Amino acid sequence: MALAFDEYGRPFIILREQEQKTRLRGLDAQKANISAGKAVARILRTSLGPKGMDKMLQSPDGEVTVTNDGATILEQMDVDNQIAKLMVELSQSQDYEIGDGTTGVVVLAGSLLEHAERLLERGIHPIRVAEGYEMASRIAFDHLQHISQKFEFGLDNIEPLVRTCMTTLSSKIVNRCKRDLAEIAVKAVLAVADLERKDVNLDLIKVEGKVGGKLEDTELVYVEKFQTLRLQEQKYFDDMVQQCKDVGATLVICQWGFDDEANHLLMHRNLPAVRWVGGVELELIAIATGGRIVPRFQELTPDKLGKAGIVREKSFGTTKDRMLYIEHCANSRAVTIFIRGGNKMMIEETKRSIHDALCVARNLIRNNSIVYGGGSAEISCSVAVEAAADKYPGVEQYAIRAFADALDSVPMALAENSGLQPIETLSAVKSQQIKENNPHCGIDCNDVGTNDMREQNVFETLIGKQQQLLLATQVVKMILKIDDVISPSDF
Ligand code: ADP
Repeated sequence: MALAFDEYGRPFIILREQEQKTRLRGLDAQKANISAGKAVARILRTSLGPKGMDKMLQSPDGEVTVTNDGATILEQMDVDNQIAKLMVELSQSQDYEIGDGTTGVVVLAGSLLEHAERLLERGIHPIRVAEGYEMASRIAFDHLQHISQKFEFGLDNIEPLVRTCMTTLSSKIVNRCKRDLAEIAVKAVLAVADLERKDVNLDLIKVEGKVGGKLEDTELVYVEKFQTLRLQEQKYFDDMVQQCKDVGATLVICQWGFDDEANHLLMHRNLPAVRWVGGVELELIAIATGGRIVPRFQELTPDKLGKAGIVREKSFGTTKDRMLYIEHCANSRAVTIFIRGGNKMMIEETKRSIHDALCVARNLIRNNSIVYGGGSAEISCSVAVEAAADKYPGVEQYAIRAFADALDSVPMALAENSGLQPIETLSAVKSQQIKENNPHCGIDCNDVGTNDMREQNVFETLIGKQQQLLLATQVVKMILKIDDVISPSDF
């Protein structure tokens, strides 16, 4: 755009030729959007459940990630279609709010889109589909509450919590050590939990990893720890050391470095010090020990000192790496889960899996209602929604039925991924649910010999499952309501 003047001095604006844009309208727009959303869901579908496949992703700088965590796969996929991005955000919202169920939510949304497409092709207006989905999702939401059960546990009975975390971990690569990791996750959450207020601050749990050792060596440290320690000195440093000693400090921890001479001086004066500690770590140490971070030595007073029982250093195998453990702190609520494993990839995946387990334990402390897994809750909701559809006289009933069918996609994917015939397995389980009036029948993915998920101890939190329903419905409704897509053309 440029401003010019004609021969009489009057200003006028010269517009550049408009950039070429492509435009999709109406049904074409909806279909294009639906197929983009479905494409994303298709990728995740094979990762769902205990027998789900893993994905290997390579970043532009060559780093490889192997995972079956929905949110991580999508995060690293770098999609550039706007609708596909919505699906990525969908998974991330589930991750953010609940921390588990990130694959399932995308699979459900993909299936809702697929069924919506069929209704659009039959001439039903997208708004009617969206409204029908909304009604159906409310029915399913309430039904989940109806089939949910209270899950009892206490500080002296953590086994139920451990078993729930084991369900979460059973579909991950770290399956082999699920018992140990689940116990670690539960103990970590309980260490920082405020059971009276039913609140857990996961920020107080630090998950760290170091290559080396076995996954089995992963441990929970009631502590803060961080790397490499050494010290140093300068002329005026002498006063500082004296100042620290005067207020009664027995250990100095510093975010920045100091040179080797200072180090020597501190050693000489019998005041151990740790330098180059990360900001986050320093804050956690402050929380754990009840100490205050002071910007200047002059501000140091005895009441700002933190307290810890033991400070010990541990080195690892043949490497130079060392870790400092600060244990039995005044405020022992901050803990660290220290992961060991053969390679970085494994450690990263373990971190993600532990994150899921921590979230599940936290969710149960916040709200101890559960529904059973293995697709059983979805099948039960599907039956309830299908039954409710008949009560609606309008066109919405088609959408409500479509919603019921879409719910079946979760057990179908679980069956398919476990090498079972999806349609046959689903119909057998569904009819069993109806015949026995038992909402706990699901897909026996691990060939245990029973499809009663209650017996198998496969369950998920009620809030997690409800959140999946809400988020998937929300994003599908949003996609259906877009009927005009204007985008720059590719050349
Ligand atoms: P998400 O990222 O959505 O949690 P997962 O890959 O962890 O996806 O799979 C979760 C699904 O697998 C849930 O539907 C859960 O009920 C089911 N599931 C987990 N363990 C089992 C099991 N042992 N048997 C049957 N289903 C299981």
